Amino acid sequence: MIAERIKELHRYLPSNVQLVAVSKFHSSREILEAYEVGQRVFGENHVQEMTAKYEILPKDIEWHMIGHLQTNKVKYIAPFVSMIHSVDSFKLLAEIDKIAKKNHRVIDCLLQIHIAEEETKFGFSFDECRDLLMQEDWKSLCNVKIRGLMGMATLTDNQKEIIDEFSSLKSFFNEIKNDWFKEVHSFDTLSMGMSNDYKLAIQSGSTMVRIGTTIFGERDYSRKDNI
Ligand SMILES: *Cc1c(COP(=O)(O)O)cnc(C)c1O
Repeated sequence: MIAERIKELHRYLPSNVQLVAVSKFHSSREILEAYEVGQRVFGENHVQEMTAKYEILPKDIEWHMIGHLQTNKVKYIAPFVSMIHSVDSFKLLAEIDKIAKKNHRVIDCLLQIHIAEEETKFGFSFDECRDLLMQEDWKSLCNVKIRGLMGMATLTDNQKEIIDEFSSLKSFFNEIKNDWFKEVHSFDTLSMGMSNDYKLAIQSGSTMVRIGTTIFGERDYSRKDNI
C-alpha cells in the first residue's frame, strides 16, 4: 500500500516538485516500505522521534524538520538534519547557525510564513518577514542557508480560500526572491501543500509538498511504538 502510494505520487508530481514523506507517528518499518521504492526525504515534527528514527534507519535518508522547533532542542538534530522548514524567529535562525557551526555544517532553512486563518499556526507575517530581512543581521550567519519559504493553508473545504492563500505566498516568495535573493540560485524552495491540498499548492507554484496521510494513512496519536 505505502509503496503503491509513493509510486503514484512520484508519477503525479512535476519534476520540479520534491516530495517530503511526512512520517511522524509512523514506524520505521513503514518508512522502510517507502524507502524501498526510492523515497529518501522524510519529514518529522518532533525532535525526539526524528532523532530515534535517524539512529536506526539508513543514513542516506534526508530528514526534514517540519514542526515547531524550540531553540534548546536544535542541538539534537543539528548533526544530521537536512532542512528545517519551520524557522519562525531570528533567535531560532541564529541558534541553528551557532550549533551548525559547532557541527561544521551549513543547514538549509526555510522561513515559515503564517498564511492561514487559524491563530494557532506558527510563522512570520509578511511584514515580520520583511522586517527580519531588512535588519540584515541574518547576512552574517554563515552556517545557515535560507533556501526559501514554507506555509500552511487554512484547513477548510473552501478551495478558493486555499488557492488565495497559496497564491499570496507564491507572490510573497517572488517578492522576497527579487528583493533579497535575486542572484542566489539556492533560494529556490517554496514548501507548501499537504495531503488535502497539494494539488492546489502545485498549481500555485509549490516546489516541495509535505504529504503524510495520503502515503501512510491516518495517524494514531495514542500509539507508543511509533519508532
Ligand atoms: C503533519 C504535517 C504535514 C502532513 O500532513 P498530512 O495532512 O498528513 O499530509 C505537513 N506539514 C506539516 C507542517 C505537518 O505538521
